[in-house]
Amino acid sequence: MENHRFEQLIIGAGFAGICAGIQLKKAGFDNFIILERGSHLGGTWRDNNYPGAACDVESHLYSFSFEQNPNWSRVFGPQQEILNYIGHCAEKYGLNPYIQLNTSVEKLVFDEEQGVWQVLCNNGKTYFAQSVISCSGGLSQPALPDIRGRDDFKGTMFHSAKWNHSYDLKGKTVAVIGTGASAIQIVPAIVPVVKELQLFQRTPPWIMPKIDGDISAFRRNMYSALPFMRSFYRWRLYWFHELAAYGFTRHPALLKFASKISALFLKRNVKDEALRKKLEPSYTMGCKRVLLSNDYYPAVQRENLHLITEHIDEINNTGIKTKDGVQHNLDAIVFATGFYAAEGVVMFDVRGRNGVSLNEAWKDGAEAYLGTSVAGFPNLFMVVGPNTGLGHSSMILMIEAQVHYILEAIKLMKNENLKSVDVKTETQKAFNEDLQQKLSKTVWQSGGCVSWYQTKTGKNVTLWPDFTFTFMKKTKKFEAEKYELVR
Ligand code: NAP
Repeated sequence: MENHRFEQLIIGAGFAGICAGIQLKKAGFDNFIILERGSHLGGTWRDNNYPGAACDVESHLYSFSFEQNPNWSRVFGPQQEILNYIGHCAEKYGLNPYIQLNTSVEKLVFDEEQGVWQVLCNNGKTYFAQSVISCSGGLSQPALPDIRGRDDFKGTMFHSAKWNHSYDLKGKTVAVIGTGASAIQIVPAIVPVVKELQLFQRTPPWIMPKIDGDISAFRRNMYSALPFMRSFYRWRLYWFHELAAYGFTRHPALLKFASKISALFLKRNVKDEALRKKLEPSYTMGCKRVLLSNDYYPAVQRENLHLITEHIDEINNTGIKTKDGVQHNLDAIVFATGFYAAEGVVMFDVRGRNGVSLNEAWKDGAEAYLGTSVAGFPNLFMVVGPNTGLGHSSMILMIEAQVHYILEAIKLMKNENLKSVDVKTETQKAFNEDLQQKLSKTVWQSGGCVSWYQTKTGKNVTLWPDFTFTFMKKTKKFEAEKYELVR
């Protein structure tokens, strides 16, 4: 068994892990490692490579502020381009030598005496590090629905985040289960290829037009030559998205206006009244993620697509049977059914002070201080931890704010020669009481829907109920007085 000692250990080489590594290096830290379970970096943008995958936040905002890219080919960059961008950042900032691929963390154990985390991995390796920065992703565990007979199906089936590229869809009868953010990108991309597409919809989403398109060579050259123009564009995008936060969290009247646009968009695009009825959402806009697409409604109207709104009764060896007793025979099933988010923020066994397990500490729903520190788990920092997700803007903004905060903590630990920092229980409690109070007023809690934002008991443990600049302000400075410091 190999043993390795580091000052910091980062779990995951997606956007968050790469950001943490870059900032550690920039701050002069050199004794760290990034463990990545996959055979390539990129996190969600490596895994979600399904046909049609692209970002639904503009790339000029969905990218690092310190590494703005003048060359995005489209307003909403496609998956491969985003993955290339992450690879470019790792390369440019010299991170590749720090990344250990094919290494999946299974268990973290805190040694209080030493002030060190022991990190046990699937390949038998054990690492030791004073601080662990968990960047394992909020949406990295694909959820397969608990449908009776699911494993009896004799055809091909796979999840949207584990696309089977060796399976040729041409001429096949294929089911897509789900009509969320992934499905509305997949459906238009595969419907021209398959013989028939059976689209199983449980809840119709709110869809807005996507103001997308190629970014001209002229514009790209301008962004290269005049960086302030690029920054100005990013600034405009930023404030446009912050306005949406105002609607989601404070002023639902704004959403009424947006839902009128969405309803009009549906009416314009779908002439058949019966079909349109099926596509009309019945909950308040914003309660689930608002989707952007120009090609979904046209795809749904293609002759070879059948929108099935009857609920699924079972999956059997030849296909799917719906509650009305109709059997839908299939060659393949695509599960575009989302991820374990509210219930599975951290996917490995974490043992903090006195051997307490994080799952046990979170049995009533995950919570942390600023989505980053959890009382009883010293020197463990999370990026995209509880209640840091966004319904309205770019997650990269939150990632950068959290990484900045963590760096402040790590610098303090180094400068003051601290063994450990552990957020005070009362700090975490007060923060979360205030957070849940704010959440209770948002559309996510009152919008009349069930979403992945909430646990089974309805507690929202995923979203930040405020503007991103409020989060940035709160994470600007590491407030040592809110932590128990051990020297
Ligand atoms: P999702 O939004 O959770 O959607 C899952 C879909 O599967 C929903 O339509 C859901 O229906 C349906 N479903 C689940 N279980 C089902 C069952 N047993 N029977 C029938 N239908 C079932 O998942 P996602 O589309 O993968 O998106 C998840 C998140 O990933 C998004 O909200 C977004 O944050 C992120 N994402 C981002 C992008 C991007 O462009 N940046 C793209 C894709 C995903 P109900 O609504 O009725 O539950």
